[in-house]
Amino acid sequence: MSNCLFCKIIAGEIPSGKVYEDDDVYAFKDIHPKAPTHVLVIPKAHVATLSDCDDPALLGTLMNRVRTIADDVLMLAPGYRVVINVREGGGQEVFHLHVHILGGKKLPF
Ligand code: AMP
Ligand code: ZN
Repeated sequence: MSNCLFCKIIAGEIPSGKVYEDDDVYAFKDIHPKAPTHVLVIPKAHVATLSDCDDPALLGTLMNRVRTIADDVLMLAPGYRVVINVREGGGQEVFHLHVHILGGKKLPF
């Protein structure tokens, strides 16, 4: 989508701290990290928000990549948190589906 910030990051039109990319997903460092490690994992297909996405294959691939990026790329062996904010009430600010991976310290809940 032409006016979407995260689509522009995928396209390389806006710089990002890329940590992983394949045919299906792109992962990059959050610009305002809320933990020592804070990475966003996004599908390359534009999906505005989780509740719009009735696509088990896309969601399955996305979550499987979250798992492997956290463990194999970010090396978060002690553990991590996964967050998806959904629409304004859930704190979503960027309307391209994204999964936050937070780690690198003990996270209170
Ligand atoms: P959310 O509130 O779930 O929509 O999260 C959006 C996240 O995107 C926030 O944590 C922002 O810090 C992050 N963000 C916004 N712009 C950028 C950017 N240009 N590069 C990296 N992260 C960004
Ligand atoms: Zn987008």
